[in-house]
Amino acid sequence: MSTPFPTGTILGYPRIGRRRELKKAVEAFWAGRISAEELETAAAELRAVTRERLVSLGLGATDSSIPEAFSFYDQVLDAAVTVGAVPSRFERLVREDGTLDLAGYFTIARGEGNDVPAEMTKWFDSNYHYLVPEIAPETRFHLASDRLLREVAEATTSGYRTRPVIVGPVTFLLLSKPSEGAPEGYRPLDRLDDLLPVYAELIAGLTAVGAEWVQFDEPALVSESIEVDRAAVLEATARAYELLGAVPARPQIFVAAPYGSLDDALPVLLASPVEAIGLDLVKGAVPELTSVPELVEGTTKTLVGGVVDGHNIWRGDLDAAFGTLESLRTLTPNVAVSSSTSLFHTPHSIADEPDLDDRLKSWLAFADEKVAQIAALATGLTQGRAGIEETLAAASAALNDRRDAPGVRDGAVRTRAAALTPADFSRGDYAERLEAQETALGLPFLPTTTIGSFPQTGDIRNARAANARGEISDAEYNDFLRAEIRSVVDLQEEIGIDVIVHGEPERNDMVQYFAEHLDGFSVTQNGWVQSYGSRCTRPSLLWGDVSRPAPITVGWSAYTQSLTEKPVKGMLTGPVTILAWSFVRDDQPLADTANQVALALRDEIADLESAGIGVIQVDEPALRELLPLKKADQDSYLDWSVGSFRLATAGVAKQTQIHTHLCYSEFGVVIDAINRLDADVTSIEAARSKMEVVPDIKSSGFGRGIGPGVYDIHSPRVPSVDEVTSLLETALASIPSRQIWVNPDCGLKTRGYTETVDSLRNVVAATKAVRERV
Ligand code: GLN
Ligand code: ZN
Repeated sequence: MSTPFPTGTILGYPRIGRRRELKKAVEAFWAGRISAEELETAAAELRAVTRERLVSLGLGATDSSIPEAFSFYDQVLDAAVTVGAVPSRFERLVREDGTLDLAGYFTIARGEGNDVPAEMTKWFDSNYHYLVPEIAPETRFHLASDRLLREVAEATTSGYRTRPVIVGPVTFLLLSKPSEGAPEGYRPLDRLDDLLPVYAELIAGLTAVGAEWVQFDEPALVSESIEVDRAAVLEATARAYELLGAVPARPQIFVAAPYGSLDDALPVLLASPVEAIGLDLVKGAVPELTSVPELVEGTTKTLVGGVVDGHNIWRGDLDAAFGTLESLRTLTPNVAVSSSTSLFHTPHSIADEPDLDDRLKSWLAFADEKVAQIAALATGLTQGRAGIEETLAAASAALNDRRDAPGVRDGAVRTRAAALTPADFSRGDYAERLEAQETALGLPFLPTTTIGSFPQTGDIRNARAANARGEISDAEYNDFLRAEIRSVVDLQEEIGIDVIVHGEPERNDMVQYFAEHLDGFSVTQNGWVQSYGSRCTRPSLLWGDVSRPAPITVGWSAYTQSLTEKPVKGMLTGPVTILAWSFVRDDQPLADTANQVALALRDEIADLESAGIGVIQVDEPALRELLPLKKADQDSYLDWSVGSFRLATAGVAKQTQIHTHLCYSEFGVVIDAINRLDADVTSIEAARSKMEVVPDIKSSGFGRGIGPGVYDIHSPRVPSVDEVTSLLETALASIPSRQIWVNPDCGLKTRGYTETVDSLRNVVAATKAVRERV
């Protein structure tokens, strides 16, 4: 007898805790303040609270609707550890029985001594970062952790029947990279047949501890940014679920495919023995299903409509969401409702935001409110639309209210955006600009600079917190920041850096700082979202038309310029990054919102220029990050994202030098876009990969200023003069010297002063030595 799939469910829930309990416990364990046992207890409590809460919000306690999706650090690392895929440099941590203890688990995540941690990369089109598994041809897969089994058992013991969640085998291998030294052409996916028996053993075990359903997350099936060819992906999917489907005494299988439409993977799953398929109907659409009517019609599988956006914080159009479920039900009677993705991209609850405007709050739904929405939609599915008419109407009323609310549409902003012409996006000839800038700035050959921030010391954070609590006045805080800037300028002068920054001491965060100073944004108090491991960010809410009521950074930059004869570089965050790291309104195209932000920045840039700032950097570390998963969407994304950067920066005079900074070294992937940004100077990460990016720069014929990082700021390690010299020489061997800038990989805010000063001294010493030789 099989139990039906629950009518309403979520793909996952925030793991960090309403008061960031998990973060605090994990960090206390790292600091040695609590034992592994105490950490386990804290985690078990959090899981218990979560189950209880989900039931109080309307999910069933025993119908498998509660996902069992806890992680101490990262769900991909968990999958790796579960199947025994530990990178060989960490094999010493594995105990005799093949398992890892908590300390070992965290060591893989965070590195130890000279053993670098697993690489971290973006989880699909979200801001979450996972640890990339490393799979060798000889990795011995085996069931190496019973953690998931214990968590399900823990739930069963306390009277729940939950649904264990694990990254599916296909996605797991597609997200993995070959371990170092693997032969050319080897792909982790080649190991599928060795991996599947472990998954089979795991799901058989899950049945034994009471699971009736298991959820495999297979988001890689929706992505076109996977390097393995599609036919192989589809073939692997068919094979994997054929085999897992054949496991005797297994739980029923739910394959969830968040972040986009399944496209040609849908018929594969429909033809497989899995019992339920989760569709992202926020990114995808029902008509996709009608392309395979013969497979959908008469299917006994449950189609789980992900109609509530797990990726955003809007209350949204619940009526339309229900309509989508109804149209899904015209195809098959077995329909359930879910979030489009795990809710771990959203903060816990609006109830934790007493300071947010009530009207704004009525337009929002964080994780808990989304669970309640899903519970209502599930009621609608069982009782019919009439049963939830009031809830739907209330959501529609909020939506209407939002549409016409003051600030959501600002006539002046719209008139200005509507009047834009191509000239507003164009700076004119680069050669002429370069000449004007070289004359105006008088910089030496191989100019040195930094990316903007200097160490955010405890003193700075304390002063900011004291000011926020009202313990020190704004005037005192201002004086403190000015003193900080003065010391950062003196330090750069003393070290001999050519283009000076102010160090960004006034910024809590490179996006939130601007959000706090622009109209159209609000910031939350407790709206934390896990970014990776124990790291959380608090994205701002971009809810209205954006404009700049007053200059933001101009006072700081002008003050900095008053302290030095050298050029000062003004420092702004670009429109794409501001969008990428905020929760953005969903009622108009991102392109329109980006242009509004760009116009606000354009005003700021004009004011910086008038205040005598001749170099202005507009950071766009998220340009690559927002790139859509589907190829068909990428061109238009690149058009508007590049366009918004150009709109922000194109108002300046020829001699004003525009810099941009991108945090990664995958230059090749977006080289065309970077070229089209038309910045005079682009700094990128390169030291970490030992200038691997240089051949890409060379072959692309990139002709403007370029600062491939020569100092890896991700660790406290101080690069030697020789090391920096050789990195510079690598760059000089391929790129014309007139184009090259010398800078660290990224900002210095996470570093301490000791290593920063030593490292920058070595960077300057190496530059001087190279200048003399060339
Ligand atoms: N200007 C910022 C800084 O130096 C850039 C940070 C980033 O690239 N993420 O901190
Ligand atoms: Zn960076």
